[in-house]
Amino acid sequence: MPAFICPLCQSPLLAQAPSWRCENGHSFDVAREGYVNLLPVQHKKSKSPGDTPDSVQARRAFLQAGHYQPLRDAVTDLLRPLAALTLLDLGCGEGYYTSALHEVVPEVTGLDIAKPAIQLAARRFKGITWLVGSGSLLPLAAQSQDVVSSLFSPLPVAEMARVLRPGGHVLVVTPAPEHLWTVREGLFGEVRAHEPDKFLKDFAEGFELVGRELVRYPLTLTQQALKDLLAMTPYAWKAKAERRALLEQQDGFATEAAFSVMLFRKLA
Ligand SMILES: [Zn+2]
Repeated sequence: MPAFICPLCQSPLLAQAPSWRCENGHSFDVAREGYVNLLPVQHKKSKSPGDTPDSVQARRAFLQAGHYQPLRDAVTDLLRPLAALTLLDLGCGEGYYTSALHEVVPEVTGLDIAKPAIQLAARRFKGITWLVGSGSLLPLAAQSQDVVSSLFSPLPVAEMARVLRPGGHVLVVTPAPEHLWTVREGLFGEVRAHEPDKFLKDFAEGFELVGRELVRYPLTLTQQALKDLLAMTPYAWKAKAERRALLEQQDGFATEAAFSVMLFRKLA
């Protein structure tokens, strides 16, 4: 079991059912599904932060249909040779990628701020430590992880560096410039290319870029898949309702998935 720390006082947590406790008397219940909520009420920015139950279900349906399977395979292939023992997956959602990472890393922790996503993950994937928590203050001890992954999730670089051992790795996946171009065209008319390199400067100190890959392939989406995709896509709600409705009527919609995968190594 990796070393967890109390989100309130940063003392070590004794991780034992039915509740995790620190020496200062803070305690966090292990939920029926097996996850632990380490998000203190005062750290919540809204009543239910993160994804809604509907968007979580849509995401699960879309991912289970295999549309992003090539990405899932690419990240596990990239991690396998590292022979890591511990991994923290930040913004893990309902665990689609986390469960694949668990096939190549024995001790995996999945962290997400959205409780509905963690509930779904914990019900489905056993053998992984599932936590509701904040990425800005990771509930893990310093130098306790071999790998920290963030797929389409925030990059709290200082916290990642703190929990990684020297020589540990950060895996980052972001949308590549042409990702879902025609979907975004349908939603907004005009499309701005994603900028997968804009965060690189954040890793300039203390890390080196040791791997980089573009995962790119065509996608043909049924009407249901397109609806699920729009429900899980963070920018879809910004589109005009009539544009979105028009797009949702499409069947056999052709687009392209394009992901930027990067691997950084923490310098000693
Ligand atoms: Zn405490």
